[in-house]
Amino acid sequence: MNFELTDTQREIQKMCREFAAKELIPNARGWDERHEFPREAVKKLAELGLLGIAVPEQYGGSGLDNVSYAIAMEEISRGCASTGVIMSVNNSLYCDPVLKYGTEEQKKEFLVPFARGEKLGCFGLTEPEAGSDAAAQKTTAVRKGDEYIINGSKNWITNGPVADAIVLFTMTDKEKGNKGITAFLVPTDTPGFNRAPPDRKMGICGAHSCSIFFEDMKVPAKNILGKEGEGFKVAMSTLDGGRIGIAAQALGIARAAFEEALAYSGDRKTFGKPIREHQAIQFMLADMATEIDAARLLVLQAALLKDKGVRHSLESSMAKLFASEVASRVANKALQIHGGQGYSKEFDAERHVRDARITEIYEGTSEIQRIVISSNLLKD
Ligand SMILES: Cc1cc2nc3c(=O)[nH]c(=O)nc-3n(C[C@H](O)[C@H](O)[C@H](O)COP(=O)(O)OP(=O)(O)OC[C@H]3O[C@@H](n4cnc5c(N)ncnc54)[C@H](O)[C@@H]3O)c2cc1C
Repeated sequence: MNFELTDTQREIQKMCREFAAKELIPNARGWDERHEFPREAVKKLAELGLLGIAVPEQYGGSGLDNVSYAIAMEEISRGCASTGVIMSVNNSLYCDPVLKYGTEEQKKEFLVPFARGEKLGCFGLTEPEAGSDAAAQKTTAVRKGDEYIINGSKNWITNGPVADAIVLFTMTDKEKGNKGITAFLVPTDTPGFNRAPPDRKMGICGAHSCSIFFEDMKVPAKNILGKEGEGFKVAMSTLDGGRIGIAAQALGIARAAFEEALAYSGDRKTFGKPIREHQAIQFMLADMATEIDAARLLVLQAALLKDKGVRHSLESSMAKLFASEVASRVANKALQIHGGQGYSKEFDAERHVRDARITEIYEGTSEIQRIVISSNLLKD
């Protein structure tokens, strides 16, 4: 497996790093404190082609590969984890399934403007009683002529408060279990689509999520994404890609925490010398750097396999599990290296701890990743 970046991938890395330094790092703390959606930064992501990175140019995207996507996600999340997840949801949870399962007609309406970043998408799988157990969908879609009538609710939908369309999972035949789940493409201005106010969260405070309620919402049958009863497959294959994005987000958060701790350890003096001259601090820095590099190799491995078009559930779960737990460990060590200042809102160390924590939960908790990994190991 070749981990050498191509010229194009290096250019994307440089462009995203410069954008993060100029537009994200100076603003990320303020967005977090004010729980503010980074509207202008998201507009600029669109101008840079970062909202449909791996979507072919004919459908409004940048036509790049998934390694480029992972690199961009790391750099953007290094600048601002909230902006990172907004970008990740539009790329991997929205555009990716529309590209893979959509008809040409659906792609015109539901992919092109989203990959260009003129519109923003979201992904509605989780319900109050169907999180890890995603097959326990209670939102129903009942056919009536050429339409389906949808009733139910979703919660924790990232980009939900601002999205223009949703990839929505529903139960069309309860008797068939996960083979009775169907995905739909639904514009969010459809009558019967009602959003609750944004959730109040511990971290990624600039990325807004909300609950959504569907009341007798009529959706044409032509808006089914994939086939009726294929929704669970659409959801799981989408998450295989999405987990690469979240792993890369975790990596970006870990890098932010590490780089700031490394700098601080040179400035702060105790017992007559910079704290980085104490071996305890050096060992923490050594562990942080090693784990970050190991996580990056897992992320690149999963992205390379996705680019090759081969099955990558196992590798995506490994990358997501490891990178997210590394992000939390590294962010906690970075806070420790900052001493009391680490606990202060005047520094970013505490934000990185809060932002890292969600990467162990969404798109499948660490426990669910361990189930995916072990079931892959135990099959045959
Ligand atoms: C900020 C945020 C943003 C989100 N964005 C989205 C989004 O855009 N779209 C979307 O659809 N969802 C989204 N989610 C939902 C997220 O994916 C779920 O919260 C997550 O999958 C866990 O589901 P749950 O909260 O219902 O926890 P539960 O499923 O109730 O799990 C509770 C605990 O039990 C453990 N557990 C459950 N089953 C098992 C098992 N079989 N074996 C071992 N342990 C188990 C879990 O790991 C966890 O520790 C988001 C969540 C948050 C917090």
